[in-house]
Amino acid sequence: MTTTTETYGVDPSPTPLALLLLGREADPASERGVECPGDLPAASDPDLVARARAAKEQLGDRVFILGHHYQRDEVIEFADVTGDSFKLARDAAARPEAEYIVFCGVHFMAESADILTTDAQQVVLPDLAAGCSMADMATAEQVAECWDALTDAGIADVTVPVSYMNSSADIKAFTGKHGGTICTSSNAKRALEWAFEQGQKVLFLPDQHLGRNTAVLEMGFSLEDCVLYNPHKPNGGLTAEQLRNAKMILWRGHCSVHGRFSLDSVNEVRERIPGVTVLVHPECKHEVVTAADMVGSTEYIIKALDAAEPGSKWAIGTELNLVRRLAKAHPDKEVVFLDRAVCFCSTMNRIDLPHLVWALESLVEGRVPNVITVDPETEKYAKAALDRMLALP
Ligand code: SF4
Repeated sequence: MTTTTETYGVDPSPTPLALLLLGREADPASERGVECPGDLPAASDPDLVARARAAKEQLGDRVFILGHHYQRDEVIEFADVTGDSFKLARDAAARPEAEYIVFCGVHFMAESADILTTDAQQVVLPDLAAGCSMADMATAEQVAECWDALTDAGIADVTVPVSYMNSSADIKAFTGKHGGTICTSSNAKRALEWAFEQGQKVLFLPDQHLGRNTAVLEMGFSLEDCVLYNPHKPNGGLTAEQLRNAKMILWRGHCSVHGRFSLDSVNEVRERIPGVTVLVHPECKHEVVTAADMVGSTEYIIKALDAAEPGSKWAIGTELNLVRRLAKAHPDKEVVFLDRAVCFCSTMNRIDLPHLVWALESLVEGRVPNVITVDPETEKYAKAALDRMLALP
């Protein structure tokens, strides 16, 4: 297997700055495109902050607001807790007295919160259009077809699915049903070690980069041990023999934000800032992670910056809202975004102050908007997969 961008399935063409700000990088086919019902306050309303504060106060302990690390500052300001998707779902589960969980993040995160919270709690996503293009790259139908291909190749019974937290409830349920586990970017290695104790091969969904980076850089597999399953091609674009020879069957999905960082970004920043430490998220392409000095989850990145020496220089390859907050929180260090082009997660950014105010004021008025619910059957199997992750050594 060669390490080309073609192999990794990421569009290598740069997107002009203005288009990134408009969210043009999003894949229209993967967006839900659901408009927020009701009257949204105008973004120009000077009372938005006061309105959010008042509604939150009125709701008191009945509401618990979760803010993902990639959310805008204006939203994070009202979060009771911040974190990555799994930490937030667990935080929600630890607050059973909260009737309403307002999840400032994206759709799959709200689903996970619904799975892990009690039936009495309702999970609200302030904008239903806040999907995740990576999660939407693996649908239940496509994954069922892939499993058929593995069955035809005679390897389904020795293959263990491992799905990244960034996947829909349907994919988590598929994983649970077939004896697999969920992983996060912090515990992917442990999840893969566990999976290889259960079977001989892993079907890794939906982020090819996290799967490849973990298998090759942390577990000693070679790039040739990995094959890329393309759900848009018959049999994933692979022969039965290729499937049988592979150790890691990587789903052809990626994060449109982290997938933008390139080897050029790393080389350019090293030239621009001598002595810089390049720290990237494992959702970045293999060539980027290989060229970086350090790699780790968002929680790892935050801790690394906390522990860094004053005066040290850092180029961070993760979502821009988080990098900007880190730069602000560490004025004694030089913290820059890895790429010269500005790139937010366009779906994360759909949650803004008007949507948060709208959601909170609706709750005050007794209307529960944009409730995210996972059906009991899906929840049962998805929870089985999540429980296996929790039981990982
Ligand atoms: S940053 Fe990437 S993985 Fe995270 S929500 Fe946005 S598109 Fe999905």
